[in-house]
Amino acid sequence: MMAPPIVLLKDGTENKQGKSQIVSNINACCLVADSIRTTLGPRGLDKLIVNSKGETTISNDGATILKLLDIVYPAASVMVDIAKSQDCEVGDGTTSVVVLAAEMMKRAKPFIEDGVHPQLLIRAFGKACDEAIKKLDSLAVKVEGTEAQREMLVKCAATTLSSKLVSQERAHFAEMVVDAVNILADDLPLKMIGIKKVGGGSLLESHLVRGIAFKKAFSYAGFEMQPKKYANPKIAILNIELELKAEKDNAQMRIKNVADYQAVVDAEWNILYDKLQKIHDSGAKIVLSKLPVGDVATQWFADRDMFCAGRIPEDDLDRIVGACGGSILTTVSQIDESLLGSCDTFSEKQVGSERFNFFEGCKKAEACTLLLRGGADQFIAETERSLHDAIMIVRRAKKNDSVVAGGGAIEMELSTHLRAEARKLLGKEQFFWMAYARAFEIIPQQLCYNAGIDATDVLNKLRHRHAKGEIWAGINIHKEIVMNNYEAFVWEPSLVKKNAITAATEAVCLVLSIDQTVKNPRTQSGGMMPGMPQQM
Ligand code: ADP
Ligand code: MG
Repeated sequence: MMAPPIVLLKDGTENKQGKSQIVSNINACCLVADSIRTTLGPRGLDKLIVNSKGETTISNDGATILKLLDIVYPAASVMVDIAKSQDCEVGDGTTSVVVLAAEMMKRAKPFIEDGVHPQLLIRAFGKACDEAIKKLDSLAVKVEGTEAQREMLVKCAATTLSSKLVSQERAHFAEMVVDAVNILADDLPLKMIGIKKVGGGSLLESHLVRGIAFKKAFSYAGFEMQPKKYANPKIAILNIELELKAEKDNAQMRIKNVADYQAVVDAEWNILYDKLQKIHDSGAKIVLSKLPVGDVATQWFADRDMFCAGRIPEDDLDRIVGACGGSILTTVSQIDESLLGSCDTFSEKQVGSERFNFFEGCKKAEACTLLLRGGADQFIAETERSLHDAIMIVRRAKKNDSVVAGGGAIEMELSTHLRAEARKLLGKEQFFWMAYARAFEIIPQQLCYNAGIDATDVLNKLRHRHAKGEIWAGINIHKEIVMNNYEAFVWEPSLVKKNAITAATEAVCLVLSIDQTVKNPRTQSGGMMPGMPQQM
């Protein structure tokens, strides 16, 4: 008699397992990489992504694109995660990491199909990765001396920017970014660099403000009478509302006669005047508050030749403290000099079609602002993202001052080295190492494809040159020739590559180690998710 089948999972559960599951996961990950591979490198193309609300984004940044793509295939989300983690850890190399991971998976696929146990591949890839990192560390060139370091930072920033929309003006922006990061305090807090976007004007009008600039806040009528320029002002930075508060909002009052009512109203006014007087007495010329500053206060300050602005965004206020010193006050009862900020000049200027307040020559000077100009909104937005990458790279390079040559140079050298190491191994492991080593060639290959250069020819030249011992031979996309990219100053922080290699290898090992996906029907609303390949 046949035993009845044991039903383990609920009806409707999708349960795929085994070799074919690993293969289809690999296929899905490669599809993700295919969607961004054409953006790699200086001649990489951009993607235009429209979301469900009709908002458009033009970007060349792997992490940005993948975040917007909304990928639903379970295993493929690992690709999005490595791009994101690369973005957080080092800020650049997000496309490279995804392309590299996909290539490693592609190289592993034939082995899986032939029935090799995934664990063998995982172990071999792990060891090969350690070897690659060791080699990378030994190749990285340390840059010493302040002058040389600045040069190095500018070059790293320029390399990052060369693959962006703003690549034509990369020299301008690279200097700007390095100056901005050099202003920061030792721990290089990212949020102390404000980025303000003002539409109109040319890209080259973008500049660094060594101080703080922000858009004139909402203001009342009295504002127009306020002076717009001060030398050496003291600045009170508040988290206090300077508005007439009708106490009837806060409490219930029972008043029997007009005199009592008048007393209440007078008291309300006096509370406000008292605050204003205290601020005035402290010697502050400029009053900034996170909370609203009402028309009475504005007029009162204007009468006393003071400037005020309310509803200032918190990050702007933090930067003011970073640049001008002082602290954010929550009470006006005891304001002494040390709590006030100061700067050399305060002024209000027109930038494009907007009015901006500028604080320059700040005493503490650990914050700054990048004012970005340019035509279309999407263009400025992409400029901002590009500068973010460059800022991250400069921060990283400043802390970890060793560099390697880009344009596929470092990848080819690692590939050559791993191949040599592989030859020392016996048995199947040798094939796995070879496969891993070959995966690195995708970077120069893709750079060539994207630039319309003959990739096969370039790869041959690169292999040849690396075999001869030219460690920095790479493809220079601007000159379209194979050359010493170290001398051509295509420099990248070694940390970017290190992180990319480890993250990509981890992703591959993770995908190889998944041999079963169980989809629970309860947690899912509509059965098959859109965009999911039919054969799982
Ligand atoms: P990612 O998101 O990975 O940073 P990019 O589109 O910024 O992707 O491309 C980075 C790649 O472009 C790196 O491998 C870098 O070495 C390469 N690259 C940058 N400038 C040049 C250049 N002038 N010639 C050749 N390759 C370059
Ligand atoms: Mg980049």
